Parts: sequence; structure tokens; C-alpha cells
Amino acid sequence: MNQEDRISFLSPPRGAAPLPPGPVRYWMQAAIRTRYNHALEYAIHLANHRKVSLEVFFVLTWNYPQASRRHYQFLLEGLADVQANLSSRGIPFVLHQGDPPGVALRLAGESSSIVTDRGYTRIQRGWRDELARQAPCPVIQVDTNVVVPVETASVKEEYSAATFRPRITRQRDTFLQPLSPVPYWNSRGPLAPAAALPPADSVPGEPLEEALPGGEDAAARELTRFLEERLSRYSELRNVPDRDWTSRMSAYLHFGQISPLEIALRAVDYHEAVLEPGDASGVETLLEELIVRRELAINYTFYNPHYDSYQGLPQWARTTLEEHRDDRRPWTYSYRQLEAGETHDPYWNAAQHQMLRSGRIHGYMRMYWGKKILEWSPDPEEAFSRAITLNDTYQLDGRDPNGYAGVAWCFGKHDRPWKERPVFGKVRYMNDRGLERKFKEISRYTRRWTS
Ligand SMILES: Cc1cc2nc3c(=O)[nH]c(=O)nc-3n(C[C@H](O)[C@H](O)[C@H](O)COP(=O)(O)OP(=O)(O)OC[C@H]3O[C@@H](n4cnc5c(N)ncnc54)[C@H](O)[C@@H]3O)c2cc1C
Repeated sequence: MNQEDRISFLSPPRGAAPLPPGPVRYWMQAAIRTRYNHALEYAIHLANHRKVSLEVFFVLTWNYPQASRRHYQFLLEGLADVQANLSSRGIPFVLHQGDPPGVALRLAGESSSIVTDRGYTRIQRGWRDELARQAPCPVIQVDTNVVVPVETASVKEEYSAATFRPRITRQRDTFLQPLSPVPYWNSRGPLAPAAALPPADSVPGEPLEEALPGGEDAAARELTRFLEERLSRYSELRNVPDRDWTSRMSAYLHFGQISPLEIALRAVDYHEAVLEPGDASGVETLLEELIVRRELAINYTFYNPHYDSYQGLPQWARTTLEEHRDDRRPWTYSYRQLEAGETHDPYWNAAQHQMLRSGRIHGYMRMYWGKKILEWSPDPEEAFSRAITLNDTYQLDGRDPNGYAGVAWCFGKHDRPWKERPVFGKVRYMNDRGLERKFKEISRYTRRWTS
């Protein structure tokens, strides 16, 4: 087993210096779950080994960029599950409020080690670096939100799924290993109920009309429903906008409320135990999305410092978009018109309304949604920044490597040049007639989200 690849020592080596006294603390940042959490199990293992106590903490900041009420609601539901599930294992959980690296640094002064998990965006990396630079105790990072650890999968930014797929597929099965919970040596049984968590309603933004419930328990239930009801026809129906046939796992994955490893293992097990051999394509298609595509997006975010801006696009895409910068656009809209879902195109408006009302857009329609923002904005840079802002503000799974790679894909990232045409240049094009040809019942999707 290569699970050691998940572990990195972030702080400078201490030589023979003795460890400071104090508990082991796990700073839960990006893996808000107690199941299939390698960082948590590693922290328990350290505390057991040293016979010191363990505490898990999370630092809630109320001004995380672009997070609104819908995101806080989902996050807090996840933290409530963590609190309850840790308490049943006899492990204390403390919620702090304030500046995350500042609080983590203060706690590092009273800890023998800080273990943390791993998010890949600039802000998450910045917080960990700040702690690691200044902490008086060792800081250990455990890469638990991917199947294959990022640097093990590839040591550089990959050009496309075609270059990444063989690398990650070679290593996939080594890392598709179950993770058993380690009993905590100092557990004295379930802990007394902790203080209630703060409510999300002080944060600006409307509550969602049709929200997925947040938290690892809801994620596990949703996964069971997906396996039982939709996995066998996932390949066939996942791209049909009026059939909501995908797993709905992305928001849970974004908040770390479920592990991709658990999804993959449960899907493979379910397939072997219940489905016919002819249904194999469902599980293989899911693993392609969940491992190849998702971890390619993480590869991009990790290795490309411009992952959320126009500069992150490949040179061929920027050149062709530049050549078509002054092309006449058949329609242009302001940011506000797009945000309100008020364009001439009923399919696009439906996708935008789905996002406003439910915090997600059907996977196929996300591509169409991003392509049209490119077509209808005054220039490609403005289009890119609008797509990122809308995606991060309204998608429950926004502010995620998948969102950055997804938007960038609409502008040519991880894709190849196609036939040249106005505005798009050689970037792949999509149009409403294509949707109508492909999906006879597309009007059902439109009615569902615009009535
Ligand atoms: C413009 C645009 C914006 C996007 N924004 C986001 C975003 O903010 N957050 C987000 O998580 N995904 C985003 N995606 C990727 C993808 O559309 C969603 O992950 C997917 O629709 C989520 O639904 P699901 O969980 O039911 O997916 P399923 O089809 O059930 O797939 C299972 C899992 O595989 C991964 N996955 C599926 N498709 C992709 C993909 N194309 N790229 C990378 N990983 C994938 C996701 O983690 C997903 O949860 C975006 C795509 C585009 C084109």
C-alpha cells in the first residue's frame, strides 16, 4: 500500500529537537467528514502512538470569498454531522470563528503536532503555508480528497485527459483501498452533546428553493440512492438534461463531505454484487468522471497558478480568441442580464434559473451555459471572468478545481482546436439547434426551470 504518498511534512525538519508537549490537533479544512478521511485516521494514529489526546477543530470565517448563505448552510450542516459522528467515537470537536491561519497558529503553540487535510485552491494553500512557516510544532498534511495523491499522479501540468488518463489509470488500483476507522485510545465513549453551531441566516443571500441537504450522512444516503436507482443507466442517461440522472455528488465532494475513494469503492462493489456484467459501462463512466476528469481538474489547479483566470488558457486558445476579438456578436448581454437569466435563449435561461434556484446546473447544460457566456460577452477576458464569478457565486459546488477547469474547458482548456468560426475562432462551439437535435425533450428541462 502506498498510502504514505498521501502524507507530507510541511514544516521545516526539527532535527533531534524534542516534540513540544500537548495534544495532537487535526485542523479540518477541506475534508469535512469522519468517514474515509485519511487525515483524521492519521491524527488518531499519532495520538494513539504517543498516548496524548486528540482534538479536531475547524475555523469558520464568515467572509470566505464569494461564499453566500447557500454555501454556509451546506457547510454548517456538514459540521453538525462531523461534531455528532466524532462525538460518538469519543473525539472532541471544537468550532472556532475567526481568521483560519491565525487561529490555527495560536493552537499550534499548544499542540505537539498539527495534522491537516488538503484543498488545492490558492486560499486553502495560502492558509496552510502560513501555518507551516510559523508553527512551533510539526505540521503534517494528508492528501485525502483524491484517489491518487496529486504529485503521485503527475509531477507537472497535464495537457489533456488523453495525456493524464494513462498516468492516473496505472496507479488507480493501488490507491483504491478501503480505509478502516482506527479506535481512539483515549475514548471514554460518546461525548456529551456539544454547543449548537451558529445559524447560516446571518450571511447575505437567499436560501435555496430546492436545496440538497448538506453533510456526510446525507451524502451517504444520496450515494445509496444513486447506486440503486441510477448507476446501471448512468452512461446512457447522464447527459440528458431533462433526466436528472447523475450522482449529485459534486457539492458533497467540494465540501469534502464524501470521499471520492468511498464513492468509487461503493460503486465498484455495488456493480459486482448487484448489476449484470453488461452494465459495466455505468461504473467505468463514473470512474472516468470521478477520477480522470476530477483529478485532471485538480492537476490544473495545483500546477497552473493562473487556474482561475484567462491567462491559464493554452496559447492556441488565447491566440484564436484574440484573432476573433472584434467579430460582431449576434447578441451581447450585461453581467446583470446574465445573472438574472434574461437572454433571448430559453435553454440558457433555464440553466441559469436552475443554478439560482437549486445551486446546480445539469452537467451537460453547464457546457452550453459556459460557451454562450463566451459568445455573448463583449470580449473573451470579460466572458471568462463573468463565467467564473457566476459559477463561484451560485453553484453549491463552485470555488472548486472542477469549476475552474470546467469554465476553462469552455474556452479551449484540455480540448483541441476545431473548425474556425466567428467569435469562437477554433474553440469548440455549441448551439441551440444542437441541443434540440440531441434532446427531443429539451423543452421539458426549460419548463421545469423557467415556470
Ligand atoms: C462551465 C462548467 C462549470 C463547471 N463548474 C463546476 C463546479 O463549479 N464544480 C464542480 O464540481 N464541477 C463543475 N463542473 C464539472 C461538472 O459539470 C460537474 O462536476 C457535474 O455536473 C456535477 O454533477 P454530478 O456530481 O451529478 O456529476 P456526475 O456525472 O455524477 O459525476 C460524478 C463526479 O465526477 C466529477 N465530474 C463529473 N464531470 C466532471 C467534469 N467535466 N470535470 C471534472 N469533474 C467531473 C465530479 O466530481 C462529479 O461529482 C463544471 C463544468 C462546466 C462545463
